[in-house]
Amino acid sequence: MTTKKRKPRNSMGSALQLVRAFRREIAGEKKMLGVSALAVLFAVVLRTLEPWPLKFIYDLVFQAKEHAWSAILLTRLGPQVLLAVMALSLVVLRGLAGTADYASSVAMAQGTSRIMVQIRDRLFRHLQNLSIAFHSRNETGDLLTHVTYDTDRLREVIITALVPFLTNTLALSGMLVVMFWMNWRLALVALLAFPVVFVAVVRLTERIKEVTRIQRSREGAIAATTTEAISSIRIVQALSLQERFLKTFSAANNNSLQAGTRAQQLSASLQRTVDLLAAVATAVVLWAGAQFVMSGRLTPGDLIVFVSYLRAAFKPIRQLARYLSQMAKALVSGERILDLLRTVPEIQDRPDARPAPPFAGYLCFENVSLAYEPGKWVLHDISFEVKPGQRVAVLGPSGSGKSTLASLLLRFHDPVEGRVLIDGTDIRDYTLESLRTQISTVLQESLLFASTVRENILYGAAGASSEEIIRAAKTANAHDFIMGMPQQYDTFLSERGASLSGGQRQRIAIARAAVRNAPIVILDEPTTGLDRRNELEVEQALKKLSANCTTLFITHTPEAARDADLILYLSEGRIAERGTHENLMALDGEYAALFLHSPEGVEKETVFAVNV
Ligand code: ADP
Ligand code: MG
Repeated sequence: MTTKKRKPRNSMGSALQLVRAFRREIAGEKKMLGVSALAVLFAVVLRTLEPWPLKFIYDLVFQAKEHAWSAILLTRLGPQVLLAVMALSLVVLRGLAGTADYASSVAMAQGTSRIMVQIRDRLFRHLQNLSIAFHSRNETGDLLTHVTYDTDRLREVIITALVPFLTNTLALSGMLVVMFWMNWRLALVALLAFPVVFVAVVRLTERIKEVTRIQRSREGAIAATTTEAISSIRIVQALSLQERFLKTFSAANNNSLQAGTRAQQLSASLQRTVDLLAAVATAVVLWAGAQFVMSGRLTPGDLIVFVSYLRAAFKPIRQLARYLSQMAKALVSGERILDLLRTVPEIQDRPDARPAPPFAGYLCFENVSLAYEPGKWVLHDISFEVKPGQRVAVLGPSGSGKSTLASLLLRFHDPVEGRVLIDGTDIRDYTLESLRTQISTVLQESLLFASTVRENILYGAAGASSEEIIRAAKTANAHDFIMGMPQQYDTFLSERGASLSGGQRQRIAIARAAVRNAPIVILDEPTTGLDRRNELEVEQALKKLSANCTTLFITHTPEAARDADLILYLSEGRIAERGTHENLMALDGEYAALFLHSPEGVEKETVFAVNV
């Protein structure tokens, strides 16, 4: 698996990276985001204007004698009218600013929600196409949090934290401009506080982000334990493992709690630091400003504007402290989504892959070796061939590599050495989809989907007609029991067919394989775990399914392998014995021993001997 990790150093970098990665989704919502940005600008202008009525009251009404033009204004309108106008404009400004905030939040909420829906779709599509190797390495619960929690977190934070933060930061720049215009010396004094605050914020931000990352991975562990325990609840209860799983869960839960508390604590301490620095800065500006006022270089109204700007200026920084852990969490969520999206499937179409022509079904394994982990060989130098329509049976102790062998044909994995050929062509030359649609599989535990019987069979071949579905069900010996169900083919299989017997589920799976009408069939221990009567019915169905098909039949019962054209006996990833039943009986090795030890084997062999 190739995961390109380009971890950006700081939060800004990772935010920009997110924007770049999702530029297509973001561009789709240009209009909504534009409306939101416009509303933000309005809010910024209104915020900057907010302390001005107060300034006018101070400078025009209280100190009218000093300004000739304000004296004129005052005599024209009268102090009461002027006061009333200023008081009213205070309310109007606040009201308009509130409206602009509201508009920007709502527009942003709509835009980001729709962007997230698309990101989720993209993530889900990507996850589905990642290789089996990836999925066997990653916990389902963990992936689940990516698709649901991480995307949700990202959306929520953009709406509740990013928009107000952006508005306030922009307002801060507007205010700075105005401050410099009014009195650049005092503006410089005010500005002195910012580098100190900046350093404190950056230092704590990185620590909060780190703690958050730890917390998220611990939450992933919780989800994984939950999925594992709940999805195998029968076994957990049967083996009375509840206590043990509870212990694992509680430990993970506590760990996550600790990391969460730590993040909150860091964020609170950042808020405290900012408050203190704000107080110091305000005091300094007040003191220096008062000097200016007394020497007549600044009006008292100007000082009021300065002080209120300063208070407003610390607001985004204070807010940053409050939202920081949230934003850091969102960034971590975003990075996790990106990591996942950057994971390239190991198994994918080669650039020059072409659609496979209809297969005749000539299979050939050429010196195939496979290791899931480097150095740990699971298959060694496997070579064999099967002619179209022939049946090869694969036997061997569990863990000997039988399922792995079959998975190579479906390209769930690619051989590390050697080649797998169909009709003389390396299967890696074909597109995955055209290869897989020409292979039917029935596994030991067939999974049905929570859907109707008809839909479940249709999953085998999307375009099948009703007649084809019924024909497939008849091939699978499933038609009769399906007709006995309450709504026949439209019966809904809740809980993935939990109400059906193992044999019935297996026969629906066989119908699903049959409707595909594929030239190659893989059967991986399809009768394991069935009682004798069900086993016979399923076996019969499998015979019909695989008639005229090239069949790779994995079984643990030598009796079922007896009439195969070729029998392979695997041992520790190597073909230990090969040949027909007669060859292998004559060889008198592992296969013969297995056959003679199975109760049916002895019985049949005796009958066989007597008949001869
Ligand atoms: P069989 O079907 O004969 O029981 P498998 O092909 O399932 O055997 O497994 C062969 C060996 O490969 C076993 O040792 C098993 O533990 C290992 N194995 C199977 N699948 C994986 C996997 N996805 N990752 C790592 N090891 C695996
Ligand atoms: Mg197996």
